[in-house]
Amino acid sequence: MMKPLGIATPGTMSILALAFLLRVSAVGQEAPRVTDPGQAPDLVEIAALDPTVHLDIRYATPDNFMGKRLYAEARAFLRRPVADALLRAHRALGPSGYGLLIFDAYRPWSVTKRMWDETPPAKRDFVANPARGSNHNRACAVDVSLYDRARGGAVEMPSGYDEMTERASPAYAGGTAEQRARRDRLRHALEAQGFEVEPNEWWHFNHRDCRRFPVLDIPFPAIRPASSSGSHGRERVQSEPSA
Ligand SMILES: [Zn+2]
Repeated sequence: MMKPLGIATPGTMSILALAFLLRVSAVGQEAPRVTDPGQAPDLVEIAALDPTVHLDIRYATPDNFMGKRLYAEARAFLRRPVADALLRAHRALGPSGYGLLIFDAYRPWSVTKRMWDETPPAKRDFVANPARGSNHNRACAVDVSLYDRARGGAVEMPSGYDEMTERASPAYAGGTAEQRARRDRLRHALEAQGFEVEPNEWWHFNHRDCRRFPVLDIPFPAIRPASSSGSHGRERVQSEPSA
Protein backbone atom coordinates (compact mmCIF):
# COMPACT_ATOMS: atom_id res chain seq x y z
CA MET A 1 0.00 0.00 0.00
CA MET A 2 1.65 3.25 -1.13
CA LYS A 3 1.64 6.30 1.07
CA PRO A 4 1.17 9.35 -1.20
CA LEU A 5 3.23 11.69 0.94
CA GLY A 6 4.00 14.07 -1.89
CA ILE A 7 7.42 15.04 -0.53
CA ALA A 8 9.73 17.00 -2.84
CA THR A 9 13.16 15.56 -3.60
CA PRO A 10 15.37 16.26 -0.61
CA GLY A 11 18.26 17.88 -2.46
CA THR A 12 20.55 19.32 0.18
CA MET A 13 17.93 18.90 2.90
CA SER A 14 19.33 17.34 6.04
CA ILE A 15 18.09 13.97 7.16
CA LEU A 16 16.65 15.60 10.26
CA ALA A 17 14.70 18.16 8.23
CA LEU A 18 13.38 15.43 5.95
CA ALA A 19 12.33 13.33 8.92
CA PHE A 20 10.49 16.34 10.32
CA LEU A 21 8.74 17.00 7.01
CA LEU A 22 7.66 13.38 6.71
CA ARG A 23 6.22 13.46 10.19
CA VAL A 24 4.28 16.66 9.60
CA SER A 25 2.99 15.35 6.30
CA ALA A 26 1.87 12.06 7.80
CA VAL A 27 0.11 13.82 10.65
CA GLY A 28 -1.47 16.31 8.25
CA GLN A 29 -3.00 13.42 6.32
CA GLU A 30 -4.88 11.98 9.25
CA ALA A 31 -8.58 12.04 8.64
CA PRO A 32 -10.46 14.41 10.98
CA ARG A 33 -12.28 12.32 13.53
CA VAL A 34 -15.60 12.74 15.29
CA THR A 35 -15.41 11.75 18.96
CA ASP A 36 -18.67 13.28 20.19
CA PRO A 37 -21.61 10.83 20.00
CA GLY A 38 -23.88 13.86 19.58
CA GLN A 39 -22.31 14.45 16.18
CA ALA A 40 -23.33 11.00 14.92
CA PRO A 41 -26.97 10.90 16.02
CA ASP A 42 -28.01 8.48 13.28
CA LEU A 43 -25.83 5.57 14.39
CA VAL A 44 -28.23 2.67 14.79
CA GLU A 45 -27.81 -0.81 16.21
CA ILE A 46 -28.69 -3.50 13.68
CA ALA A 47 -29.92 -6.03 16.26
CA ALA A 48 -32.32 -3.44 17.69
CA LEU A 49 -33.81 -2.77 14.26
CA ASP A 50 -34.16 -6.43 13.29
CA PRO A 51 -33.22 -9.24 15.68
CA THR A 52 -33.39 -11.82 12.87
CA VAL A 53 -30.07 -10.46 11.56
CA HIS A 54 -27.46 -12.69 13.23
CA LEU A 55 -24.21 -11.46 14.76
CA ASP A 56 -20.81 -13.13 15.03
CA ILE A 57 -18.70 -10.12 16.02
CA ARG A 58 -15.23 -11.59 15.75
CA TYR A 59 -13.39 -8.57 17.13
CA ALA A 60 -15.27 -9.01 20.41
CA THR A 61 -13.51 -12.41 20.69
CA PRO A 62 -9.92 -13.61 20.16
CA ASP A 63 -11.16 -15.46 17.02
CA ASN A 64 -9.86 -12.94 14.47
CA PHE A 65 -6.69 -12.26 12.51
CA MET A 66 -5.24 -10.30 15.44
CA GLY A 67 -5.84 -13.21 17.81
CA LYS A 68 -7.10 -10.87 20.52
CA ARG A 69 -10.27 -9.21 21.70
CA LEU A 70 -10.52 -5.65 20.39
CA TYR A 71 -14.14 -4.76 21.18
CA ALA A 72 -15.56 -4.75 24.72
CA GLU A 73 -19.00 -5.56 23.34
CA ALA A 74 -20.34 -7.78 20.54
CA ARG A 75 -22.46 -5.13 18.84
CA ALA A 76 -22.98 -3.87 15.30
CA PHE A 77 -23.79 -0.25 14.43
CA LEU A 78 -24.18 1.54 11.07
CA ARG A 79 -25.33 4.97 9.89
CA ARG A 80 -29.10 4.78 9.51
CA PRO A 81 -29.39 4.93 5.69
CA VAL A 82 -26.74 2.21 5.44
CA ALA A 83 -28.49 0.07 8.05
CA ASP A 84 -31.79 0.50 6.23
CA ALA A 85 -30.18 -0.65 2.97
CA LEU A 86 -28.65 -3.67 4.74
CA LEU A 87 -32.02 -4.64 6.21
CA ARG A 88 -33.66 -4.45 2.79
CA ALA A 89 -31.04 -6.91 1.52
CA HIS A 90 -31.69 -9.17 4.54
CA ARG A 91 -35.42 -9.23 3.86
CA ALA A 92 -34.94 -9.80 0.16
CA LEU A 93 -32.86 -12.89 0.98
CA GLY A 94 -35.62 -14.36 3.15
CA PRO A 95 -37.52 -16.31 0.48
CA SER A 96 -34.30 -18.08 -0.53
CA GLY A 97 -33.89 -19.41 3.02
CA TYR A 98 -30.94 -17.19 3.99
CA GLY A 99 -30.40 -14.29 6.34
CA LEU A 100 -27.46 -11.98 6.98
CA LEU A 101 -24.73 -12.84 9.48
CA ILE A 102 -22.62 -9.83 10.50
CA PHE A 103 -18.95 -10.16 11.45
CA ASP A 104 -18.22 -6.45 11.78
CA ALA A 105 -19.84 -3.09 11.05
CA TYR A 106 -18.86 0.27 12.60
CA ARG A 107 -15.32 0.10 13.98
CA PRO A 108 -13.98 2.98 16.14
CA TRP A 109 -10.93 4.64 14.56
CA SER A 110 -8.73 3.87 17.57
CA VAL A 111 -9.29 0.14 16.93
CA THR A 112 -8.14 0.56 13.33
CA LYS A 113 -5.10 2.43 14.67
CA ARG A 114 -4.35 -0.42 17.07
CA MET A 115 -4.65 -3.01 14.29
CA TRP A 116 -2.19 -0.97 12.21
CA ASP A 117 0.27 -0.42 15.05
CA GLU A 118 0.27 -4.08 16.05
CA THR A 119 0.57 -5.50 12.52
CA PRO A 120 4.12 -6.02 11.20
CA PRO A 121 4.84 -3.52 8.38
CA ALA A 122 5.23 -6.35 5.85
CA LYS A 123 1.61 -7.43 6.44
CA ARG A 124 -0.01 -4.00 6.50
CA ASP A 125 -1.46 -4.40 3.02
CA PHE A 126 -4.20 -6.34 4.76
CA VAL A 127 -5.21 -3.66 7.27
CA ALA A 128 -6.68 -0.20 6.76
CA ASN A 129 -4.31 2.74 7.12
CA PRO A 130 -5.47 4.92 10.02
CA ALA A 131 -4.10 7.97 8.20
CA ARG A 132 -7.06 7.70 5.86
CA GLY A 133 -9.49 5.88 8.11
CA SER A 134 -11.52 2.94 6.84
CA ASN A 135 -15.11 2.80 5.71
CA HIS A 136 -15.76 0.75 8.85
CA ASN A 137 -14.71 3.89 10.78
CA ARG A 138 -17.34 5.79 8.77
CA ALA A 139 -20.01 3.27 9.84
CA CYS A 140 -20.89 2.63 6.22
CA ALA A 141 -19.07 -0.68 5.58
CA VAL A 142 -20.07 -4.12 6.77
CA ASP A 143 -18.41 -7.54 6.88
CA VAL A 144 -21.21 -10.00 6.30
CA SER A 145 -22.04 -13.57 5.30
CA LEU A 146 -25.20 -15.69 5.18
CA TYR A 147 -26.85 -17.96 7.71
CA ASP A 148 -29.32 -20.73 6.98
CA ARG A 149 -32.72 -19.69 8.34
CA ALA A 150 -33.86 -23.31 8.79
CA ARG A 151 -30.72 -24.57 10.56
CA GLY A 152 -29.71 -21.26 12.10
CA GLY A 153 -26.00 -21.76 11.41
CA ALA A 154 -23.47 -20.01 9.19
CA VAL A 155 -23.18 -21.33 5.65
CA GLU A 156 -19.95 -22.40 3.97
CA MET A 157 -18.39 -19.86 1.66
CA PRO A 158 -15.34 -20.29 -0.62
CA SER A 159 -13.10 -18.97 2.19
CA GLY A 160 -13.27 -18.16 5.87
CA TYR A 161 -13.77 -14.61 7.15
CA ASP A 162 -10.61 -12.48 7.03
CA GLU A 163 -8.78 -15.26 5.24
CA MET A 164 -5.94 -13.57 3.35
CA THR A 165 -5.74 -15.96 0.41
CA GLU A 166 -6.90 -15.99 -3.20
CA ARG A 167 -10.05 -17.80 -2.02
CA ALA A 168 -11.23 -14.53 -0.45
CA SER A 169 -11.64 -12.85 -3.84
CA PRO A 170 -15.26 -12.37 -4.94
CA ALA A 171 -14.09 -13.67 -8.33
CA TYR A 172 -12.37 -16.84 -7.02
CA ALA A 173 -13.42 -19.71 -9.30
CA GLY A 174 -12.47 -22.56 -6.96
CA GLY A 175 -14.36 -24.15 -4.08
CA THR A 176 -17.67 -25.89 -4.65
CA ALA A 177 -20.45 -24.66 -6.93
CA GLU A 178 -22.68 -24.29 -3.84
CA GLN A 179 -20.11 -22.13 -2.04
CA ARG A 180 -19.71 -19.85 -5.05
CA ALA A 181 -23.47 -19.64 -5.57
CA ARG A 182 -23.98 -18.51 -1.95
CA ARG A 183 -21.17 -15.96 -2.22
CA ASP A 184 -22.70 -14.57 -5.42
CA ARG A 185 -26.20 -14.55 -3.89
CA LEU A 186 -24.90 -12.45 -0.99
CA ARG A 187 -23.18 -10.06 -3.38
CA HIS A 188 -26.21 -9.63 -5.62
CA ALA A 189 -28.49 -9.00 -2.64
CA LEU A 190 -26.20 -6.26 -1.32
CA GLU A 191 -25.43 -4.72 -4.71
CA ALA A 192 -29.17 -4.36 -5.30
CA GLN A 193 -29.27 -2.08 -2.23
CA GLY A 194 -26.36 0.19 -3.12
CA PHE A 195 -23.37 -1.71 -1.71
CA GLU A 196 -20.14 -2.49 -3.56
CA VAL A 197 -18.01 -5.52 -2.75
CA GLU A 198 -14.32 -5.08 -1.84
CA PRO A 199 -12.13 -6.48 -4.66
CA ASN A 200 -10.26 -8.99 -2.45
CA GLU A 201 -12.83 -9.72 0.26
CA TRP A 202 -16.14 -11.35 -0.62
CA TRP A 203 -17.47 -10.46 2.87
CA HIS A 204 -16.68 -6.71 2.86
CA PHE A 205 -19.21 -4.29 1.39
CA ASN A 206 -18.98 -0.50 1.20
CA HIS A 207 -22.13 1.52 0.78
CA ARG A 208 -21.93 3.82 -2.24
CA ASP A 209 -22.60 6.87 0.00
CA CYS A 210 -19.55 6.20 2.23
CA ARG A 211 -17.75 9.36 1.19
CA ARG A 212 -20.35 11.60 2.82
CA PHE A 213 -19.76 10.15 6.29
CA PRO A 214 -16.91 11.29 8.57
CA VAL A 215 -14.46 9.02 10.37
CA LEU A 216 -15.73 8.31 13.89
CA ASP A 217 -13.87 7.42 17.05
CA ILE A 218 -16.72 6.81 19.44
CA PRO A 219 -16.48 3.67 21.63
CA PHE A 220 -19.48 1.31 21.59
CA PRO A 221 -20.52 1.99 25.21
CA ALA A 222 -20.77 5.73 24.43
CA ILE A 223 -23.25 5.19 21.60
CA ARG A 224 -26.87 5.68 22.48
CA PRO A 225 -28.63 4.05 19.57
CA ALA A 226 -31.62 5.84 18.21
CA SER A 227 -34.80 3.78 18.44
CA SER A 228 -36.40 2.61 15.21
CA SER A 229 -38.71 5.63 15.37
CA GLY A 230 -35.73 7.89 15.96
CA SER A 231 -37.32 9.72 18.88
CA HIS A 232 -36.81 7.56 21.96
CA GLY A 233 -33.08 6.91 21.88
CA ARG A 234 -32.61 8.93 25.07
CA GLU A 235 -34.72 6.44 27.02
CA ARG A 236 -32.77 3.38 25.92
CA VAL A 237 -30.51 2.38 28.78
CA GLN A 238 -27.80 -0.10 27.94
CA SER A 239 -26.38 -2.37 30.60
CA GLU A 240 -22.67 -2.20 29.97
CA PRO A 241 -20.02 -4.66 31.07
CA SER A 242 -17.27 -2.93 33.01
CA ALA A 243 -14.56 -3.93 30.51
ZN1 LIG B 1 -14.37 -5.10 6.28
